[in-house]
Amino acid sequence: MAINNTGKSLAGKSLSTMTIGCMRWSGPENVGDIIQECVNHGALYLDTSPMYCYNSETENSETWVGRGIKGIRDKVILSAKCSPGNGGMGIDEWDPLRGFSNQTADQVRSTIDQSLTRLGVDYFDCYQLWTVSNELVYESAFKKGGWLEGVMKAKDEGLFKHLGITGHPESPMIKRWADEGIFEIMTVPFHIMNTSRLEGIEYALAKGIIVNAMNPLNAGMLGNNTELEIPGLDKIGLSLENATELALKFVEAFGMTALCGVSTLEQAKSDIKYLSKPKWTREQALQVSDLFNNLFSGFENACTQCGYCKPCPVELDFPEMFKMKNFYKILKMDSAKQQLITMSKWYGDGYKLERCEKCGICETRCPNGLNVMEQIDETLEIIRG
Ligand code: SF4
Ligand code: SF4
Repeated sequence: MAINNTGKSLAGKSLSTMTIGCMRWSGPENVGDIIQECVNHGALYLDTSPMYCYNSETENSETWVGRGIKGIRDKVILSAKCSPGNGGMGIDEWDPLRGFSNQTADQVRSTIDQSLTRLGVDYFDCYQLWTVSNELVYESAFKKGGWLEGVMKAKDEGLFKHLGITGHPESPMIKRWADEGIFEIMTVPFHIMNTSRLEGIEYALAKGIIVNAMNPLNAGMLGNNTELEIPGLDKIGLSLENATELALKFVEAFGMTALCGVSTLEQAKSDIKYLSKPKWTREQALQVSDLFNNLFSGFENACTQCGYCKPCPVELDFPEMFKMKNFYKILKMDSAKQQLITMSKWYGDGYKLERCEKCGICETRCPNGLNVMEQIDETLEIIRG
């Protein structure tokens, strides 16, 4: 079984449609076995960062991957990264352990050296401008004596071969990155539940940039345990085992690689299995997307996430939660309920729907005439149920 090929090569190696995200290891024990299994089937690209699985200087994703690739360094495509920003919207004090707020060329160089040491290698294949969340972080990378200068010096010294960039930009920013002309690979979020970035991604692909789809399973919502029935699939000659197959085949069909954050050997095996099956065409993927979205069309009171109801006086951000509620109600996806619980617990006050003051302003603004307050109650019931 061989994973499908992208038809592109990176660092002199052929690039398959599966790449490996190194942030979700369940522990150090199985990292080597997982990497070996992936490499055996053609998934060579490993995406690491100083922050992933950080327990200590000797126990973190970079050191685990370093041990995992001992003896096969020349077979993998190793990518590392650090950020001029703080992992969020701003820039704080230099945080080398996690790879954040590298503002000077010297700081960047020190973070690069740290990653080389942790991984036990003398070069990377790719190095990426990481967590580019906004204009401020992006621009700061280019300032004199800053991130880019440090990184390009390292490149000149042979410490890596290809420059990449990663973040959560929308299409216009993706196009700007592509037009910059210095990035050969880009890692951005893309999955069938949100295709808003497709225009920017296809623009980058057309320029010959490799696009790695981050989060193809939408934070595990399209995981192996999620069964999904999409009526009409057979009419376009397709069938699906589960939501993971849908998610991976969808991403692959557009010419992207799917960044698979594998935790277990079983997960790696199933991702390998799906990405070894015949590729869907772009046309088929678009048809699947229509069928997927059709599941919601007959559903009254479906929030379209248009945002016209904002701002809410207590800054609630319910449209995204309504989307999850609908996935749970219409597609019977337990993972959507889990996501609602996670959002309500960890995503801040904007997602704590019990803070709704029932002022009703949102309902007067909603062009779809949604009974927002009722839906808030319904969402809360699901979260508490
Ligand atoms: S009804 Fe609730 S959600 Fe709507 S605007 Fe008022 S406080 Fe915000
Ligand atoms: S205006 Fe209505 S449809 Fe649009 S995001 Fe708000 S609730 Fe959803």
